[in-house]
Amino acid sequence: MSTLRFHAIKETFNRPVIDVQEPQRRSAIFGTNVFNNAAMRQFLTKDSFKSVQDAVVNGSKIDRAIADHISTGMKEWAIAKGATHYTHWFQPLTGTTAEKHDAFFETTEDGAIEKFGGGQLVQQEPDASSFPNGGIRNTFEARGYTAWDPTSPAFIYGTTLCIPTVFVSYTGEALDNKTPLLRALQTIDSAATDVAKYFDKTVTKVNPTLGWEQEYFLIDKALAKSRPDINLTGRTLLGHSSAKGQQLDDHYFGSIPKRALDYMRDLETECMYLGIPVKTRHNEVAPNQFELAPIFEETNLAVDHNSLLMDVMTKVADRHNFKVLFHEKPFAGINGSGKHNNWSLATNTGVNLLSPGSTPMKNLQFLTFFINTIKAVNEYEELLRAAIAGASNDHRLGANEAPPAIISVFIGTQLTNVLNALEKVKDGKLSPEDKTDLKLNVVGKIPEILLDNTDRNRTSPFAFTGNKFEFRAVGSTANCAKPMTVLNAIVAKQLMEFKTQVDGLIKGKKMKKDDAIFNVLREYIKDSKRIRFEGDGYGEAWEIEAGKRGLSNNKTTPLALKEQVSKKTIALYEGLGIMNKIEIEARHEIEVEEYAMHIQIEARVLGDIARNHVIPTAIKYQNILIENVQGIKDIYGKDFKKLAKEQMNLIEAISSHIENINGGITDMINARKKANKIEDSEKRAIAYCDKIRPYFEEIRYHCDKLELLVDDEIWPLTKYRELLFTR
Ligand code: ADP
Ligand code: MG
Repeated sequence: MSTLRFHAIKETFNRPVIDVQEPQRRSAIFGTNVFNNAAMRQFLTKDSFKSVQDAVVNGSKIDRAIADHISTGMKEWAIAKGATHYTHWFQPLTGTTAEKHDAFFETTEDGAIEKFGGGQLVQQEPDASSFPNGGIRNTFEARGYTAWDPTSPAFIYGTTLCIPTVFVSYTGEALDNKTPLLRALQTIDSAATDVAKYFDKTVTKVNPTLGWEQEYFLIDKALAKSRPDINLTGRTLLGHSSAKGQQLDDHYFGSIPKRALDYMRDLETECMYLGIPVKTRHNEVAPNQFELAPIFEETNLAVDHNSLLMDVMTKVADRHNFKVLFHEKPFAGINGSGKHNNWSLATNTGVNLLSPGSTPMKNLQFLTFFINTIKAVNEYEELLRAAIAGASNDHRLGANEAPPAIISVFIGTQLTNVLNALEKVKDGKLSPEDKTDLKLNVVGKIPEILLDNTDRNRTSPFAFTGNKFEFRAVGSTANCAKPMTVLNAIVAKQLMEFKTQVDGLIKGKKMKKDDAIFNVLREYIKDSKRIRFEGDGYGEAWEIEAGKRGLSNNKTTPLALKEQVSKKTIALYEGLGIMNKIEIEARHEIEVEEYAMHIQIEARVLGDIARNHVIPTAIKYQNILIENVQGIKDIYGKDFKKLAKEQMNLIEAISSHIENINGGITDMINARKKANKIEDSEKRAIAYCDKIRPYFEEIRYHCDKLELLVDDEIWPLTKYRELLFTR
């Protein structure tokens, strides 16, 4: 009997109930492990506190002498909370988070003390030479360092004080996901503030907001461990579909299974301490699939919180004997996971710029930001697609399941009607009647019509949902920094252009401000029509239509990533000071290499499982059949051909599947050898994509057929029905 699978199943039957305590009201514990304003007021001098505030709000530099005070206060706070170590917490380009813990503890001549100086707060040199850098830090002298990001507060996790930092090379190039994000956020702040001033002179800052929704699967830890593919690649590379899957839709929003609920309660408590404002939890479409969403926050903090959350989820899951699968497509034939990025812009005066208001003026403001966003997405759709590219998200985008690899914007019928009406604005100055008509009949009624904006399109990768845009094509494994850097950068660029054009009309053609805004917006509506799509994004008809509209449809990562290094992208990022050519090209290099390695690992794991698990098991079963046929022959003589007919068919079928698997693996290995010889990393990635990946399906097909034929008792790999329905 195959041991691992049955041991694992047995283990799940005997899982102890994990005691979950929800110690106090959530509001009472929220943010208590965060060095937030309340903690800072208590532990910092007035000057130090003000200095941090200034850095957060105005991006001002923190003086070194002040940093010494801050670090002392921070240390006192952390030690009072039981922390023994500190770490600079950062997000290297591997897509996870990194930390290296140092103790506060230091020896002195007559004993030991707890020490944490300003220098240690502000800057560190992690021995991080193994993080991907795309060739930037090729010489060993050119080390990288981490630098404190005061806009994201320090927090305590376990017994470690974590200080959010950026990670840059000594020559100043960004080596992480956060640095370009912070630059993009600064850029959109200033661009959006300038435009918001058309409507309200008192606006001095605009914060992009992000509310992510994290989808994930929960699998019993023992079951997950029993599958080498889940262990090493985060997904199943083979496995026949379960008789029951998600056909009945009986999981979606159903009552959450007890074990999963206990996990979520525990997780949410951890999140409360860490100041991650999680709010929503529910079952998703697939069995054992769930979703968690917070209240939205300022983007940098929300990005950090999502990265932290993924780490916390993994750790808490271990305590509950679960493994969290973040992979976009852990199971074939079952819905995959995404990470919707809900995005908007909020002013320091408390206004959501993508929220329609009660007056025509407020709605003109809404339309300005709404239409500029659509225009930006239209201009840079291909870059937005590149921002969410990755080997695992390829399983969703335009492959087994939507959203498609084509970026389009959904706004609903009512707003479509508004844009259609605006498109008819006359060129030049508007007559008083035109204005009344536009303002009262078109612009004035937006909030009313939005109230019954019920036609939300689930197939759209980028949808307007009442008071925010929802970027739905982001993958569940993604670091939100990537899509958020692109989105905020392109909208910033667009808003700058808008401002220039409106000011041009005001000055050059002596237009009134409103006339100028209407005129420019009208042109934008016309220019960006092709990106708007209200129909079924999953259908083949849309692919054809999108092709005619000239929209990109890059179905695989290596193709999608090309746009990251196009002239247009380099001009965008260099123009805005977000990244320079070296940084852009280094990132591209890292991502294409990562892609090839990803496929390479999957190919090797699949080859191993198929050859070491599947084929030997199939042969074992075939031998049982052969023995059986031999026995029948011994007893019945020449009649055996009739009596053992089915068994003999099975023997032949097994041989044929084995042959196909073996042949497939051999060809795949040869293709890999060939690909590995390719010097150019982009071409190598393309080879892995086009020449190696296609074998996966073929090999899997025959393995899955064998799973159906071979005696369940000896099948070594935990089956889909066991992975998906063990609770
Ligand atoms: P869905 O129907 O897609 O689950 P919800 O209406 O429940 O969407 O909201 C999803 C997310 O949108 C939540 O995480 C919420 O925090 C976020 N959200 C709401 N308003 C904003 C905003 N102004 N900016 C950014 N995110 C927002
Ligand atoms: Mg959503």
